[in-house]
Amino acid sequence: MASISFHNIAKRFDTAQAVADFNLDIADGEFVVLVGPSGCGKTTSLRMLAGLEQPTGGSIHLDGQDITHVPSKSRALAMVFQSYALYPHMSVGENISFALSLQRVPKAQIVPQVQQAAALLGIEHLLDRKPRALSGGQRQRVAVARAIIRNPKAFLFDEPLSNLDAKLRHSARVEIRKLQQKLGTTTVYVTHDQIEAMTMADRIVVMEGGRIRQVGTPMELYRKPNSKFVAAFLGSPPTNFITGQCIHNNGRVRFVNDRMEIPLNPGVASGEVTLGIRPEHVTPVHASQDQIRISGGIRFVEALGAETLIDIDLGQSQNVTRTLTARLAGQHNLAPGSTLEIGFSPRDSMLFDAQGDAVPE
Ligand code: ATP
Repeated sequence: MASISFHNIAKRFDTAQAVADFNLDIADGEFVVLVGPSGCGKTTSLRMLAGLEQPTGGSIHLDGQDITHVPSKSRALAMVFQSYALYPHMSVGENISFALSLQRVPKAQIVPQVQQAAALLGIEHLLDRKPRALSGGQRQRVAVARAIIRNPKAFLFDEPLSNLDAKLRHSARVEIRKLQQKLGTTTVYVTHDQIEAMTMADRIVVMEGGRIRQVGTPMELYRKPNSKFVAAFLGSPPTNFITGQCIHNNGRVRFVNDRMEIPLNPGVASGEVTLGIRPEHVTPVHASQDQIRISGGIRFVEALGAETLIDIDLGQSQNVTRTLTARLAGQHNLAPGSTLEIGFSPRDSMLFDAQGDAVPE
């Protein structure tokens, strides 16, 4: 187990600055998820930690020791790849034990370790099979068992669940998280899937364009995104955004042809601002509550059983149709075309300036 630090890490390929100004301290035993859209630099960051890519600037430290120029095989880190990278001609048992065989560990020691790793992943009955005779979920477990047996200082995962179907992904992410908690091994996990990030991470690192946008616990990022980008990236269905004009003479922001107003911190610059409101915070109006209210026409109702998603048309402003999605618990008998008065608490609203940065409260 180990702590990991990235200091001013940068990576430039011929044509692209893949990573820049990457600073991050990961505590011993922490589970950190790097998340962001395709091309944001998360895999390159992980590969630099693994020693599979050489940074063009900065340094990486493992337990306080500078490993920037230490060869990959001497870093004592175990990486699980998206493709699993199993050796097709070897059995599951041979795949799992391969790293120990390379280190010339005596066979009498290897056998019980393979048994133990296989038991942890529930694949003891598959040890004699070849990878081609395994399902995607089973291959993924073999790849994890192969990482565990090396007793590494940290696990590095690069999108390990992206080849699995939705149901398997759910169970596999729970399994990986439980296993990591049991072993207490520092883990850096790369994904573009915000649900994996939210459910697995101790801390999430959101990346955009090669740079870190925000670092925090899942709930910190969900509740207090520092930018429109982070607010948009985390949460499903996505955050509703509506642009408005900040009017300083009455200390309010006006939206949707002045049909909706919200109070504003006087320190905010005049001009365009964007309101962010999460679908679960939009509700039918409650007479007793302090809510910002607006009415709109119901466009579409999706009854999902446990919850209902409603698309509401607020009308046009600045030649754009403004819509909001509301996510209500349970089932609701609402007809498309009818009018609904909705509201949300000012406390749940998020405001972003014209650059997309969160406006201070
Ligand atoms: P994805 O989710 O699609 O894997 P990512 O966030 O992991 O994306 P990276 O693979 O780290 O992103 O790529 C970051 C940037 O660096 C991209 O613009 C990519 O095209 C570029 N890049 C990555 N590897 C190389 C390479 N070997 N040569 C040139 N450019 C590269």
